[in-house]
Amino acid sequence: MFQFTITAKNSRARAGVFTTPHGDLLTPVFAPVGTQATVKTLTPSQVKELGATLVLSNTYHLYLRPGDDVVAGLGGLHRFMRWPHPILTDSGGFQVFSLAQTRQIDDEGVTFRSHIDGSTHRFTPQRSIRIQENLGADIIMAFDECSDPNDHEYSKLAMERTHRWAEICVRAKRRGDQALFGIVQGGIQADLRVASAKFIASLDTPGIAIGGLSVGETKEEMHTMLDVMEPHLPANKPRYLMGVGTPEDLINGVLRGVDIFDCVLPTRLARHHSAFSPEGRLNLMNATFAHDQRPVDETCDCYTCRTFTRAYIRHLIVAKELLAGTLISIHNLRALIRLMESIRGYIADGSFESRVPELLSQWANNAKRLVNG
Ligand SMILES: [Zn+2]
Repeated sequence: MFQFTITAKNSRARAGVFTTPHGDLLTPVFAPVGTQATVKTLTPSQVKELGATLVLSNTYHLYLRPGDDVVAGLGGLHRFMRWPHPILTDSGGFQVFSLAQTRQIDDEGVTFRSHIDGSTHRFTPQRSIRIQENLGADIIMAFDECSDPNDHEYSKLAMERTHRWAEICVRAKRRGDQALFGIVQGGIQADLRVASAKFIASLDTPGIAIGGLSVGETKEEMHTMLDVMEPHLPANKPRYLMGVGTPEDLINGVLRGVDIFDCVLPTRLARHHSAFSPEGRLNLMNATFAHDQRPVDETCDCYTCRTFTRAYIRHLIVAKELLAGTLISIHNLRALIRLMESIRGYIADGSFESRVPELLSQWANNAKRLVNG
């Protein structure tokens, strides 16, 4: 049911097809994030029109609200959110560690208090799998612990727990129509990353996720970790770099053999009036755009850029109209999806590696907060 076929290679960069029960994913692929079973401000048909093939939803949030049993009773996540295409859920682990009010970790799991109402809950590897089976995504994650990347001792402990939990998840999984990915951890410690890549690879899951990066380490540290892991990851399985990233991160990730990415950045920036553009990140609320008749990005083929001026979008922002968030989200998501489409083309024609400097310079100004941003 889950097949990964590599169609072209360019040094370590790969183009491929990952087959899922709800459709084929052409990789490398960027997945918009639909935390609460919705990509914020967009309808599923708008998300589809952007060229998105895969959407990520968060187990922690959907477990708390509306409840995974409620989603299961309504026919599962695809039916509930009316997205009949591939879905990926995370394990809930990352949110428990980053959002829950208080949490106590032990070798069997995590007890935490909801950030919504303070109620007490417990996640174990078995429970995370059961919740993800209720939600019914095509790609699901093993329950893992994300450490402070700089703390070697804690990173080792968290990695060992992640490995034990991954084995439990593999045994706990019952549904045959979901691909469970094991997660490599190990902070920014090269020895731990190698050990973790080898261990997770030995579990023979249909794909491998890389967790615990883009959590505060430098770009160079993230690239080094991707470089040290890569030779130990199975070549014939998709690799998913969780929660990454910026346009620059996508280019650098593909260059280092990553196939799947997700990030809240495009939609989060949109809610803060910020748009990707070849000139760098634009803050469209800025008064300099009040009479600007150009689209956000003259080179972009999205609905927003084909239809509206910067001046109109600025007006919507100033008037606090919700359409502003929708229009900028459409553009920002399309920008990353279009970047991935061109990267797939470059891998296919063998030019990706030689184009990396040009791609990185094109996107350089978007990596950081821009002037006025
Ligand atoms: Zn656009």
